[in-house]
Amino acid sequence: MSDYDTFDGRFGSLVIGSAAVERLWTGGRWTEGPVYVPAAKAVVWSDIPEDRIMRYDETNGAVSVFEYPCGYHNGHTLDACGRIVACEHGGRRVSRLGFDGRWETVVDRFDGKRLNSPNDVVVKSDGSIWFSDPSYGIDSDYEGHAAKSEIGACNVYRHDPRSGETTAVVTSLDRPNGLAFSPDERTLFVSNTSSSNPPAIHAFRVAESGCSVDAERMLVTSDAGVFDGFRLDQAGNLWTSCGDGVRAYAADGTLLGRINIPETVSNLCFGGRKRNRLYITATSSLYAVYVNARPAVGLHSLR
Ligand code: MG
Repeated sequence: MSDYDTFDGRFGSLVIGSAAVERLWTGGRWTEGPVYVPAAKAVVWSDIPEDRIMRYDETNGAVSVFEYPCGYHNGHTLDACGRIVACEHGGRRVSRLGFDGRWETVVDRFDGKRLNSPNDVVVKSDGSIWFSDPSYGIDSDYEGHAAKSEIGACNVYRHDPRSGETTAVVTSLDRPNGLAFSPDERTLFVSNTSSSNPPAIHAFRVAESGCSVDAERMLVTSDAGVFDGFRLDQAGNLWTSCGDGVRAYAADGTLLGRINIPETVSNLCFGGRKRNRLYITATSSLYAVYVNARPAVGLHSLR
């Protein structure tokens, strides 16, 4: 099986045909939440059911446990200071790894009620933290601690660290999951991993204020499993996890191509010295492949 399937001619300029998919590590149970930490030359990711965070050292290929137990971490990203921001199923909070090495709470409540189990997170250029809060971490003891939802809904929230205010920005999806902004931050993309609706990625227009969304459209649906986590490149192409690998979509939703991965993919991030290496978490393993694209925003973009 080839590592690549091309559905649109543009895909050829986004991948490097001679670059093979590598499996860097295996032995996890359900890997998720990769983030590239430039200052550490490392990738950090979650192994949710094992309640641990793993670390791949890019300088020598070594993989080690970064933290165990960790509170059933899921998604990770970096803030503008380079600190890791995490979604915790166990702690039912969004947390941040402070400069002193301790995890501190960013937000754990909405409207006085405990969050369900934050799943994935992105930091906007204004410093606000946007995260999804489905119930996977409280549905059973497998990926967290079984509990009843206090909020009774699964939303996407915006948290403003300056004011401490948290608002529900997307309330129309029953299982919001991965999320990311377009390079100009005028569109927020959110995947829905509902079992009762078609797996899809929805595009929300960000309001003029930059603090909410005011229009929604379905961008793409999946015919092979769900879309979980995803990232955008500088050109606005969307690189997403899917049941059959990593799919690349143009900004208008055209399927460009697929990177074939032999396990169900949960999430991915750009990393490496030139940020042109995709790190992919897929069920039990961490994969990597060099591509001809770079990430859209944040510390990863080298802008
Ligand atoms: Mg997810």
